[in-house]
Amino acid sequence: MARLPEEVSLELGLDEPSDDAHLRQRVSKLLGVPAAELPALVLRKRSIDARRGAVRFHLLLELGAQPAVDLGAPHPREVRPGGVVIVGDGPAGLFCAYELARHGIGCTVVDRGKLVQPRRHDLKGLQQGGTVDPDSNYCFGEGGAGTYSDGKLYTRAHKRGSVRDVIEILARHGAPASILTDARPHIGSNRLPQVVSSLRHELQNVGVAFRFGARVVELLLTEGSAPRVRGLRLQDGSELPAQQIVLATGHSASDVYRMLVAQGVRLEAKAFALGVRIEHPQALINRIQYGSAAEHPALPAAPYRLAETVEGRGVFSFCMCPGGFIVPASTEPQGLVVNGMSLSRRSSHYANSGLVVAVEPQDVVAAGFHGVLGGIELQRRLEQAAFAAGGGMLRAPATRATDFLEGRASSTLPQSSYIPGLTATNIAEVLDSVGLQVAPRIAAALRAWNRRMRGYLSAEAVLVGVESRTSSPLRVPRDPDTLQSPDAAGLFPAGEGAGYAGGIMSAAMDGMRIARVIAGVE
Ligand SMILES: Cc1cc2nc3c(=O)[nH]c(=O)nc-3n(C[C@H](O)[C@H](O)[C@H](O)COP(=O)(O)OP(=O)(O)OC[C@H]3O[C@@H](n4cnc5c(N)ncnc54)[C@H](O)[C@@H]3O)c2cc1C
Repeated sequence: MARLPEEVSLELGLDEPSDDAHLRQRVSKLLGVPAAELPALVLRKRSIDARRGAVRFHLLLELGAQPAVDLGAPHPREVRPGGVVIVGDGPAGLFCAYELARHGIGCTVVDRGKLVQPRRHDLKGLQQGGTVDPDSNYCFGEGGAGTYSDGKLYTRAHKRGSVRDVIEILARHGAPASILTDARPHIGSNRLPQVVSSLRHELQNVGVAFRFGARVVELLLTEGSAPRVRGLRLQDGSELPAQQIVLATGHSASDVYRMLVAQGVRLEAKAFALGVRIEHPQALINRIQYGSAAEHPALPAAPYRLAETVEGRGVFSFCMCPGGFIVPASTEPQGLVVNGMSLSRRSSHYANSGLVVAVEPQDVVAAGFHGVLGGIELQRRLEQAAFAAGGGMLRAPATRATDFLEGRASSTLPQSSYIPGLTATNIAEVLDSVGLQVAPRIAAALRAWNRRMRGYLSAEAVLVGVESRTSSPLRVPRDPDTLQSPDAAGLFPAGEGAGYAGGIMSAAMDGMRIARVIAGVE
């Protein structure tokens, strides 16, 4: 018998069955081998192709592999106590602790926020009462900004082994098995909290310590010309000794950036992005993307991804959430930040996406915000302008896309997924209030995108403000080999807040890399 290939690709019509018997028939025909003589078929990748007017599934099948019973990712083992303290229980901090435990190294993870369950209560306060707890919200608490996020697991990082490792760890802790094969893996914010608490339980079982409600307010450094870390001070005044500190506090902890400046740890301004969130009826996006197949029950809520360069700056869709909700991601009482998430079924009637413009450090200075913390100050001013324009209680200022292009305020608004409610206004005035050319660039991009996705620019599309925390305006420099700050030996800046990640996957992988450096294996 001729040697069989290791894998085959199949294209499946929307109404074609996808059970094993049918797939074996298709592969048998393709390879000219009787179905009975084929080895086991294992699905490795599944994607949807909606190009060229016909929607179909692409499957990548491996021949001869046994279905995985235990995933290959190594487990943590019993740890010996160590001097590592991880600040921040987001994906960077949590996966750093996980990787350390695989090498038998113990650590303490401290986080300013609460465990997932009580944190849920504070999210209700945000949604229904307009109250912001600066230590417990969509950004702060167990699992970090990742816990009540959308849980899309896409990354541009090309370290395939590390990507697979993180995906397998998540799958082993309660994420749906589909993330192992989907080309666009997604967990959903109804399932993420169980995943992060299951990770914590596994780590606690091998001896890793966790402390919540523990906000770090000061790094304790040795005296002299080459300081090194010796511990941390918490908000209650207590001290926590440490020989190594992994600082994984995310990009919303502006107080941490101020603390670093005050303590002589260098920061660098970097490019970031801000703008609005745009929401459409999901049915409209389905029609644009899937055409006449839009209502087909086999198809999920359609995503999209758009990018344009307008007058030298990138304008792009960001963190698109099919079948999702816009949520208030504020971390300060008088500031409004919006973001997007969805449940695993992606079944809401709305499609939302960030619609943001790249901002370079020189744009921040030109807008009148000086010093290394200028970008943070600009974000804060914009968030305060949005809060005021919404009229308080975290109501969000909003404008129909068609009114936005006419440069006027909306008088009425379509229904929205945003629970605190929308206030009809001219969102361009909010964006313009910080002296950046964001609104005109968004308008130009909307016109261009409407040519690519006919109907995208519609009176049913609403721009909701503001999306100001897509990425960090700062980087905390670190040595490329030792991954430590040049200003404090033993300080490992990590994840999104330090400027080394831009989402759940890249933050997790950055945390794991730091763990391997601490363990001396990288
Ligand atoms: C609503 C929403 C939806 C999102 N959707 C997606 C998505 O679909 N896919 C994706 O890849 N990314 C998404 N993101 C972004 C993603 O969550 C972040 O990129 C990721 O969580 C960054 O990980 P991190 O570990 O670097 O920091 P974070 O997750 O921000 O974690 C930082 C942690 O540090 C803690 N902390 C801060 N300051 C202190 C202090 N002083 N002392 C002690 N602890 C402190 C915080 O409480 C927090 O738990 C979303 C974010 C939000 C808010």
